[in-house]
Parts: sequence; C-alpha cells; structure tokens
Amino acid sequence: MESTEFLVVGCGPAGGTAAREAARSGVSTVVLERDAVVGAKRVCAAGLRPGFCETFDLPRSIVHLDPPRLTLSTMRKTYAFTLGPAHTTTREELDGTISGFAQAEGADIRTSALFRSLERDRDGVVVEYADTKAGARKKIRAKSVFLAQGSTARLDDVDPAFRFPEWRDGIITCIQYRVYPKTPAIDAAYETLEMHYYRSPLSGETIIAWMFPKRDHLSIGLGMGPKINGAALRAELDWFLPRVQARLFPGVGYTVREEGNLLYGGQPRPGIASDRVMVGGTAAGLVDATTGEGIYEAAMTGRYAASAVHAGKRDVRDPAPAYERATKHAFYKRLRHRAKLMSFLERKPDRFDVLFRQLEGTPRFADLLQHDRNDYTRRQWLYLYAQAARFGLRAAFA
Ligand SMILES: Cc1cc2nc3c(=O)[nH]c(=O)nc-3n(C[C@H](O)[C@H](O)[C@H](O)COP(=O)(O)OP(=O)(O)OC[C@H]3O[C@@H](n4cnc5c(N)ncnc54)[C@H](O)[C@@H]3O)c2cc1C
Repeated sequence: MESTEFLVVGCGPAGGTAAREAARSGVSTVVLERDAVVGAKRVCAAGLRPGFCETFDLPRSIVHLDPPRLTLSTMRKTYAFTLGPAHTTTREELDGTISGFAQAEGADIRTSALFRSLERDRDGVVVEYADTKAGARKKIRAKSVFLAQGSTARLDDVDPAFRFPEWRDGIITCIQYRVYPKTPAIDAAYETLEMHYYRSPLSGETIIAWMFPKRDHLSIGLGMGPKINGAALRAELDWFLPRVQARLFPGVGYTVREEGNLLYGGQPRPGIASDRVMVGGTAAGLVDATTGEGIYEAAMTGRYAASAVHAGKRDVRDPAPAYERATKHAFYKRLRHRAKLMSFLERKPDRFDVLFRQLEGTPRFADLLQHDRNDYTRRQWLYLYAQAARFGLRAAFA
C-alpha cells in the first residue's frame, strides 16, 4: 500500500497551511482535496485580520483591499470603529496560493480526492478515499492524519473520540452574492467592512449579514441558524441587498453571482485528537460565533499540526496530544465565550445595541477584543473584566 508520513484531508486554510509547513520541515505530506480546483468552491466573505499575510508568510498580492473601518449595524443604528486595517481577498486566491506554496515545498496535493474513512493498523492510520476523476477507491497509510474538511465534517463515524452531538446545532446556513456594480460604488464602500445584526422582518430569526468590499465586486451575504430552504434564504438576502444598494451604489445597475455554504457558529468540538489523528480549523468548531471568522484559527491549527508532526518525527511520538494542547490553549476559552455571548445577544436583540454602544464609546475595549487573550497583561484582564461587568449590568436591563 502507498504510504506517507503525514496525510491531510481538505485544502482550505487549515489543511493548506498544515501541508505547507509540514513539507517545509521535511515531512512527506499528501493532501486529499474533494474539489477539482483548490478554493474554487469556497463561499466566504474572506476578510482577513490585520497582519494575516505576515503571520503566514503570504504575498500581499492576494489582498484586494485594506478597509480601515468596521461598522456594526443593528436595525436602530450604525456603530463605527477603526481597524488595524483588515484585509479582504477571495478564497480562490487565498487557498490557491497556500496550496501552491505547499506544492512548492514538496507536498503532494491530490484534487478530486474525497475522504471516506480511516482505520488504525499496527503501522499507522489507513485512509480510504475516492479518486472521483478516475472513479476508483484508493487507500493510503499515514503515520499521522490531520482532518480539516471544514463545516461539512461529519466525524461521529470516523472516531468515537470526535463525537459531538451538538455539532448540528451550530450549523448556520449562508447565502452570498458577489455583486458587480456597473460603475464603482461610493468611496466609503471600499473603506469599510460592514456587519449587520438584526431580527428578520420576514422570518423573525436572528440574521448576521455583511458587506465586504473586493477589488471588482462587493461580497454581500447573510447567515441564519436554522436549516432553511434556498428560496426563503434568497428572500432574506433580497430584502437586505436593496438596503445596501441604496447607501453604497444607488441607482447603479449590477450583476450577481450567487453562492451558498454552511458556516459553523457553535462551541468548539470537545475532542480533536485521538491516536495520531488530529482535527483542525472549522472541522474542530473553531469559528468566532459573533463574527463568523475562522480563517486565522484554521491556518493556526494547520501550523500547530505541522509543528507537532515535525516534533513527533524526531522521537517517534504521537503528535496528537501536543497538537490538542496548543490548539485548546490558543482558542478554546475565547471561542467558547464568544459562542455563549452570541446566544446571550440573540435572546434579546437590544443587547447588540448595548454592546456596540459600549465598544464605540471605549475604543480600548474594542481594540483588546481583537487580540488573543493569551497576550493580555494583568492590567488588561482587570480592565476587560470591568468592561464585561458593565456590559452585563446594562444588558440585563435591555
Ligand atoms: C459565508 C461565509 C463567510 C465567511 N466569512 C469569513 C470571513 O470573512 N473571515 C473569516 O476569517 N472567516 C470567514 N468564514 C469562515 C471561514 O470560511 C472558515 O472558518 C474557514 O474556511 C475554515 O477553514 P478550514 O480550512 O478549516 O475549512 P474550509 O475552508 O471549509 O476547507 C475545507 C476543505 O476541505 C475540503 N473537503 C471537505 N470535505 C472533504 C472530503 N470528504 N474529502 C476531501 N476534502 C474535503 C473542502 O472542499 C475544502 O477545500 C466565512 C464562512 C462562510 C460560510
């Protein structure tokens, strides 16, 4: 049977970064990617946090725009903040560039390769996949495996250690239009990332919607919790889009490319490591439930997996426990807290206004929330607790 040291499933930011960094450190790496072209089918607003390209050694050419402003809107009001600045890109470019670098480092990226199952034997982990181009089932043995299939990851049957019945409750259905205005929108459109939080007048559900500007189009989309059919979801976006148009490209004709995808917005998966198999990125549930962001977390888990595999190679150790420690330490407290905060806000939409007003009035609070909690000093923790208490009190009366 064919064999490799490290097998990665999925070539999104998590899988691509894992492959690139593992191959760079001399680990023989194979990636199985379901799609025929890496990144081509990913639906995403593709906003990147400040410093992303530097952190992951990616060329600035993938960046479309550097919006310095973020607005958070409710039905009542728009609250404005300055940013790092953040970046926007497209997933074709982001995922395609990372996988190109992984290939250049020696990783073997196999497209049209659909992961099916895995089992352990004495010599490692045997993964079965379908080569959908050739129409054949294939097997490959790996010393360790990184599962990074994103929000469609169904892992209950893969390994009991990854079972997580609440996974389904965290799934958010999304629709996005790539809107190409015939003439450019107003300047402010290209300088702002917009997030909107409101209760839908059509369905009564809480909606998170966005407008993220790109070089040649605007990504305008929304997500909502429950499973909903395509027509109802499209109706929600068709209600939202004219409101954005009235502000940003009034009276301008446009064409639209429609995209749909699942996003995960629940709690992180409790088990993400088991006997040489690791789970990363969105498959591990690592998405900020208040914003829908998960690219940074995904790429970071790819880095942790590659680093654990490289370290494990030296002393023939299972890399999974080290990977799990690093990932949980970096992300679990913050993301668990964000998922709880989102449920708290959704219960009474007026609470969004309470939070956004406080963030707008205390830029230091807003700024600290964009940083990793592991970097906070004691003074910053005290400040954050004081702000959280203030928010809790005000929100209780909202
Ligand atoms: C509408 C929308 C907007 C978003 N906007 C943002 C944003 O602006 N900023 C941000 O940071 N995050 C955003 N996110 C979240 C972000 O897309 C994810 O957090 C991120 O893509 C996770 O990366 P990943 O590598 O874990 O998974 P993915 O990017 O989902 O990649 C998974 C890969 O695995 C492949 N795959 C799946 N199943 C199999 C299989 N069985 N076999 C082989 N391959 C398989 C898929 O084809 C895919 O290439 C958004 C998500 C959505 C849905």
